[in-house]
Parts: sequence; structure tokens; C-alpha cells
Amino acid sequence: MTIALAQLEQYLNYYLESSQIKDYCPNGLQVEGKSEINKIVTGVTACQALIDAAISQHADAIIVHHGYFWRGEEPVITGIKRHRIKALLDNDISLLAYHLPLDVHPLVGNNVQLANLLGITVDKTLNPDDHSIIGLQGHLPRELSVSEFAEKVEQALGRKPMVVDNGKPVQRVGWCTGGGQGYIDQAVLAGVDLFLTGEASEQTFHSAVENNISFISAGHHATERYGIKALGEHLENLYDIDIQFIDINNPF
Ligand SMILES: [Zn+2]
Repeated sequence: MTIALAQLEQYLNYYLESSQIKDYCPNGLQVEGKSEINKIVTGVTACQALIDAAISQHADAIIVHHGYFWRGEEPVITGIKRHRIKALLDNDISLLAYHLPLDVHPLVGNNVQLANLLGITVDKTLNPDDHSIIGLQGHLPRELSVSEFAEKVEQALGRKPMVVDNGKPVQRVGWCTGGGQGYIDQAVLAGVDLFLTGEASEQTFHSAVENNISFISAGHHATERYGIKALGEHLENLYDIDIQFIDINNPF
């Protein structure tokens, strides 16, 4: 099966409601390649290694969570950005990127997918009064110790997390995939037992200790593999096209 690039983009924009979400980057088609697509590669970040893998797989399009053209970045196309974009254009490969729309989607979003993986039942958003705040809160089927829950995270993500354990059992969890460490304050306000995110900053440790909340930093990449993977599976069921998720190892 093949699909027209225009149809693919139109469907993704519709499904992920990208026009309704304010973001730090353009969501949708970022680099235009050939108009007919036979094979799609998906991945977390449009890094050179993912592009090289897509070229060797003869992909016609790449769909990622982290694309290009971030607010505040140098707008010129030099250095690694030139190499990446040149490789895409030379090989006629389109790049489609969905950032926040793929964090917050109720079915294939990173946050919902991570909950599924960790056996957390979603209750509501981290702050139901403020929709600009990404992240969710939910509960585990039974209380676990922080180390039991951390073990579960390690098993699921294949990476040892950083843990702040306040010694209390965990049942209510708040989480935000990726660089969500700043939302620890929202998790404290929500009254959850533990906050999980991808990244941690130096100050996150003190915030966790002084607010008496347990905290897990499980990796930006590791917590954000599952949205794009689920999106690819969704597209494969819908359009019967060849879609391959490629995980480029990233310890951060
Ligand atoms: Zn991210």
C-alpha cells in the first residue's frame, strides 16, 4: 500500500489535533520529500542516526516526537542541522514531527502510553484547573514501596532510574514524560505519593526531599519512546503501510 504525503499529514494533524495545541515548534510536516509514501520509519528524535537508519531502510517518511525548528534556537541551517536536513532532502525523505500533541493525546500520547506500560490507571490531568500543564495523575492497583515501583520502572524501560525515596508507600502517582521535572510542584499540590518524569535537575532533588514526595527520573528518551511507537501502530492498522519503529539508544 502507498499513501499520499498530503493525506498522511492531513490525517495526523486531525488525529493529534495539532492545530489546537500551542507549542515551541511547528507540528506536522517539517521537511517535504516525495509525494507518495511506501515505507515510514518512526523514532523519538530526528537525529542523524535515525535519518541514516531510515535511508538504509528505504523509508519515504520519518515521523518523530522531537523534530526541528525549536523556538529560541538559531534559525540558520548550519552544522549538524545542515547534515540532517541535507540527508533528508538528498534522499527525498519527508520529516513529520509532533511534539506536545503526542505528549497529551488520550490514546497514543506519551503520558497515557507510559501509564499503560507501568500499570497505572489514569485518573485526571496533573492540574485539572490548568490545561497548559502537561502530565497526568493516577493510581496503582495496590500500594508498593518506592523501591518496588522503581524496579517496575526499570523493568519496563530497560534503564535504571534515579530515585528519591521518602520511605512512604506509593499508590497515587503523578507523571510527565520527558523534561517534566519542573512539574514536581504540581505533583506536590496534587498530593500524589510519587512524581515520575524523564529528566531531573540539581534542584529537583531538594524539591523532592523538602516537599516530602518520592521522585523518579527515568530518562527523557526512555519515557518518550511509547507515544511515537503507538502512533506508528495506529497508522499501520489504519492504512496497511509498512511502518518501522527504530529506537536509537539515548541514555539521557
Ligand atoms: Zn521530549
